[in-house]
Amino acid sequence: MPSNEQLELQALARDFATSELRPHSASWDEARTLGDEVFAKLSESGFMGMLVPEAYGGLGFDLLTYLLVLEEIAWGDAAVGLSVAIHNGPVVDLILRHGTEEQKREWLPRLASGATLGAFALSEPDSGSDPGSLSTAATPDGDGWRLDGEKRWVTNGGRAGLILLFARTSENGLGLFLVPRDADGYEIGASEKTLGLRASETVPVTLNAVRVESGALVGEAGSGLRYALEALDLGRIGIAVQAVGIGRAAMEHAAGYALERQQFSQPIARFGAIQAKLADMAQRLAGGRALAHVAASAWEAARSGNGPRQGLEGVTAKAAVAKLAASEAASWSADEAIQIYGGYGYMKHYPVEKLLRDAKGTEIYEGTNEILRRVIAGEILRDAGV
Ligand SMILES: Cc1cc2nc3c(=O)[nH]c(=O)nc-3n(C[C@H](O)[C@H](O)[C@H](O)COP(=O)(O)OP(=O)(O)OC[C@H]3O[C@@H](n4cnc5c(N)ncnc54)[C@H](O)[C@@H]3O)c2cc1C
Repeated sequence: MPSNEQLELQALARDFATSELRPHSASWDEARTLGDEVFAKLSESGFMGMLVPEAYGGLGFDLLTYLLVLEEIAWGDAAVGLSVAIHNGPVVDLILRHGTEEQKREWLPRLASGATLGAFALSEPDSGSDPGSLSTAATPDGDGWRLDGEKRWVTNGGRAGLILLFARTSENGLGLFLVPRDADGYEIGASEKTLGLRASETVPVTLNAVRVESGALVGEAGSGLRYALEALDLGRIGIAVQAVGIGRAAMEHAAGYALERQQFSQPIARFGAIQAKLADMAQRLAGGRALAHVAASAWEAARSGNGPRQGLEGVTAKAAVAKLAASEAASWSADEAIQIYGGYGYMKHYPVEKLLRDAKGTEIYEGTNEILRRVIAGEILRDAGV
């Protein structure tokens, strides 16, 4: 159960989402950009440094507190939720876990204050679900590295000052690099025109003989795939609550509409069919949230060396279960919310069609639901060697 202090922080985040995100969400979606102002406000509030320890200028939240806040932010606007989740999650965690003290001191205070936005660049045109096959090359070059290749769908990529980028350092191994946006040869393409999360500024990137110093390599060359998969455990728990936030928004809109809309001389909320939809939304979303919070405990335990990563009780399976359940709950809830709105739900003028478009993304990024099922089944069948 969250403590009183955690509930107060959640309430603050809800107020922030209500006043700073909700009113702009539709226009950001239409404009296909978030603009600068919301990032300034997120920075002022400290929400860009939730998982950065206080020693490096962050709020030093535990994972549950972070998830409570992130759900509210995603409830306010899903694209902001995604941006905040990637910045606070995989980006910060990779530096905290594997960075040298010098790398932490250089980047964590800037990430925590929001002066620098972080991005995570793993996917490529020919490598998505199978990141071990990626082909961006990191070639030793004097006392540093030269990076050549292409990245796809880099969230935050349009405005990120720091990109956590994975590249092949040997035939069998990947490395993780800290690439500043202004590196020569780092070329950012035009924002993709996406179905949902249209304000999120997802970009392709080309690396054309980008030169980075040896100090840009994080951890060991060759261990990058393991680092990426570990970071995705945290990323998936964050996306699970992002999905719950989107689904909850859909449920609340649908409940409000059902109370107002009259048919057969009464509010449609009186009809059992409508009530069943609302009840099932609440049930599925609560399940997704609970699984995310359970996964957070497993993540904290594994992080402090007191819990496993592997096995059904391990953080990898629990994170996959949480994102799978929550993303499907969100898409289902948004779909049913449109149904409750009837013809109006299908119209852009009403908020629920956007929520279905946004929710769909949570079934794809940071591991598709097919891959998550594979991860979970792999843990169930591990001992059988299947
Ligand atoms: C909005 C958005 C934001 C994103 N942000 C980022 C980001 O910030 N950084 C980043 O690195 N990437 C990002 N991605 C990329 C995302 O992580 C990939 O799209 C995702 O991992 C799937 O890869 P893919 O698109 O290449 O699909 P593919 O891997 O080509 O898969 C295609 C289909 O085949 C299925 N499939 C593949 N392998 C298997 C298998 N073994 N068993 C069963 N089914 C399988 C998949 O589930 C899918 O249905 C983003 C994507 C989107 C849509």
